[in-house]
Order: sequence, then C-alpha cells, then structure tokens
Amino acid sequence: MLLEKKSIDILKKAVEKLESGFDLPEIKSQYNYEKIEEILLTVAERMRDNYPYFHPYYVGQMLKPPHPIARVAYMLSMWINPNNHALDGGRASSRMEKEAVKEIAKMFGFQEHLGHLTGGGTMANLEALWVAGKIHPEKIILASDQAHYTHQRISEVLGLSFAKVPTDCFGKIDVEALEEILKKKDVGTVVCTMGTTGVGAVDPLADLLELKKKYHFRIHADAAYGGYFTLASNLRKETIENYNLLREVDSIVIDPHKHGLQPYGCGCVLFKDPSVSKFYLHDSPYTYYSSDEIHLGEISLECSRAGAAAVGLWATQKMFPLERGGEFSAMVESSREAALDFYERLCLESEFVAFFDPELDIVIWSIDAKSTKEMSEKAEKFFLKAEKEGLYFSVFKYSSEKIKLFKEDIEVNSSYTTCLRSCFIKQEHHTYLDQIWSKLKSIELE
Ligand SMILES: *Cc1c(COP(=O)(O)O)cnc(C)c1O
Repeated sequence: MLLEKKSIDILKKAVEKLESGFDLPEIKSQYNYEKIEEILLTVAERMRDNYPYFHPYYVGQMLKPPHPIARVAYMLSMWINPNNHALDGGRASSRMEKEAVKEIAKMFGFQEHLGHLTGGGTMANLEALWVAGKIHPEKIILASDQAHYTHQRISEVLGLSFAKVPTDCFGKIDVEALEEILKKKDVGTVVCTMGTTGVGAVDPLADLLELKKKYHFRIHADAAYGGYFTLASNLRKETIENYNLLREVDSIVIDPHKHGLQPYGCGCVLFKDPSVSKFYLHDSPYTYYSSDEIHLGEISLECSRAGAAAVGLWATQKMFPLERGGEFSAMVESSREAALDFYERLCLESEFVAFFDPELDIVIWSIDAKSTKEMSEKAEKFFLKAEKEGLYFSVFKYSSEKIKLFKEDIEVNSSYTTCLRSCFIKQEHHTYLDQIWSKLKSIELE
C-alpha cells in the first residue's frame, strides 16, 4: 500500500448515518456520474505530478499526511459543508471547534483563553499581532531574524513598526542583542518562535520572560510548527523548561496542519486574556441571529471558514488526546528520535557535516567542502541526485558566518551557504531510518 484506502469504506457508512438524521423529502438531483468519473480520473493523473509527501522517503519540507481519521472526518463534513463563521452556518462544527480549541489551550496550560481556528499559521499570527497592535498601537514588534518572514509582512499590513533581533549560531534569538534594543526602543511585543521553520530552534522563553519583568512588553509565541513538542518528554532539559513556560505568554499560534495530522486549512490562535474579545466586537447585518451563544465570527477576523477543519481536528483529538505519555505524544517523540539518529549517523561520516544536533526534528546538514561556495554547490547537486534516486530533501540557506562557527577551517566566500534540510515530521520516519540511510549512502557525492 502506498495510499491508504480502507477508510473510504468507513466513510460511506458514516455518510449514510449522517443522512438518516434528517427527516425530509427526497431530493431528485441528477448527477452525470460518467462525466464525474472521467474527470476525476484525469485529476488523479494530474495529481501524480507531486513529490511523494506521504512517503517516508520524503524527508524534505515539514509536510505530514493527514491521519485517516482527520481525512474522513473532514470529508464526511463535506456533505454538509458547514461554515464556522456563525452558528447559523455550522452549529455542530462550531461547537466541535470550541471543544477542540479548548483542548489545545489546556495542552499549553492556559486556565482561561480566547481562541479559534484559522485558515493557517499566517492568519493566526496576523490576529495575534493585530491584537498586539491594538494594545500597543505606537510600539514596535520584534522578532528574530530566524522567525517566519510572515511577522515582518504582517506588521507591514497592520501598519506597525517592526525590527529584527539577531540570532546566535543555533538560530535562537540573541538575548543580549534583544536587551540592547529594549533599552533603546519602545517595544510593544516580542515574538518568541517555539521551533523556527528553518532549523527548528526554540527561542529562550525563560530569558524573554525575565526581560519582560523589566521592559513590560507582550510575548507572542509562534509555535506554528513546534507547538506540539510541548507534549514530548525526550527534548533537552532547557527546551522542556521553555515549553512549560508557554502558559505565561500573552498569545500562542499553533498549526494543527503541520504536526497535528490535519489537512491544510487548520491554524489556531489563542489569547491568554479572554477580554481581548473586545477588539473583535462588531455587528453583522447578515449573521449571528440563531442564538445568544458566541458565534466564532464574532471573535475572529476571517468570515467564512471551513467547519470541516474543526470536524477533522475534533475527531483526531478524540482518537489521539493531547496528553503527555499518550499515543500522539509518542509520534512527536519519534520524530525527534529520528532526527537525532540521523544526526548521529551524519557525524560518523567524514564526507558529511551536520552542524549542530537538532533541538526538535529538523536536521541541517551538508557535504564536506573547503569553502562555503563549494559547499553550496555540492549540497544543491546532492539534492537533485537524491531526488532522481527517489529520496527527497529540501535546501536551506544559512549565514556563512554561522557555518564557520561550526567548521572553523572553512573558507567563507559567500554570504549564505546552501545546506540540506531534513524534517523528520512523519511518525514512520524513525522506522524507515535504516532504509533512508542506506539509500542516502548509495548516492554518489561527485
Ligand atoms: C509554517 C509557519 C508559519 C506560517 O504558517 P502557515 O500555516 O504556513 O500560514 C508561521 N510561523 C512558523 C514558525 C511556521 O513554521
């Protein structure tokens, strides 16, 4: 099996059960099933033009296939196509969203919260920074130079000033540099990335909270990619401590469509102080009639939103509760195991370089070379060769000055060095590591 199909039979049963809940006269619609089949098979052919994201041999970007439960729950809700903007558009799925989001808030240790799902991490971060801007309209937003580029762009969209904080060689926010900026400028919010998209570095939240006492800024944690590692028990001690401090930040973003087994279209934003709902206050001439219960559209910036995303997430969290020591946390832990294992194998081979041991499940590595330019060329070539052999990585540009800190004898003749980047995001990756490794070793370096 390459693509899971058994759940399609279960889906049919569930659609019938759903149908039997509506007591209405039959609809006599005519669909041209021959045409549907013909077009769908053409679609299947077109869709072959993709990297095999679902396969363990794909160790490139942070792409994780949705779990069958998420996929069928999402599809099941397509027969209703609920809109989670308002209870009028999706009663059941709106309630499922509130329940699922509450579980996520609980996972981070929020006693109280205001939160909802979004189309993705970008929209979720936009809402967090929008609220930050409402609270500190004239003040600056800071994020590290390894934070997701979205923060700078969002600040621009919101008309807020933004500045970058340098990072150390591991890609974490440089706390001393941060304090220098805090002394000179009026900073309203600092973005703390809990797992950078590039190298998977976790910013030192403990230090940021210390600085907050003195400089009184908001902390927004961008845990879009790394958020679920808060359940993992096999991280470095300091990383675990930083995750445990997430309960103290003002807002958090997490992407269930990254590590959380969901199809795309599932981000989440959480605020620690529920009273920020006042910024969202608005009236709508079209919606919000059906009940006094809060409509999700009253506490979010997006209007129409797939209720299906909430249904998929709710079902997944039923199957895999967000708890430490559970089945889901074991999946996240195995991703880190795979990354560590891969890193250790690279360290034993003189032709490869692995710069630093992974903090989460991303490994940045390359082929040994005399200069940064040569290293970039070798990495790019290797990336293409591997792809031909059916092994898929991604590439990442890292500052050559930082590379030199790990490899003192390298000649720096380019400002950036292209490296190979591997995200071990799938739960199957660890089991397949021997196969991945022997395939990698069979690729010629020259
Ligand atoms: C992926 C990611 C984002 C952007 O989220 P999308 O879901 O792609 O819109 C923001 N921040 C971090 C840290 C990310 O990893």
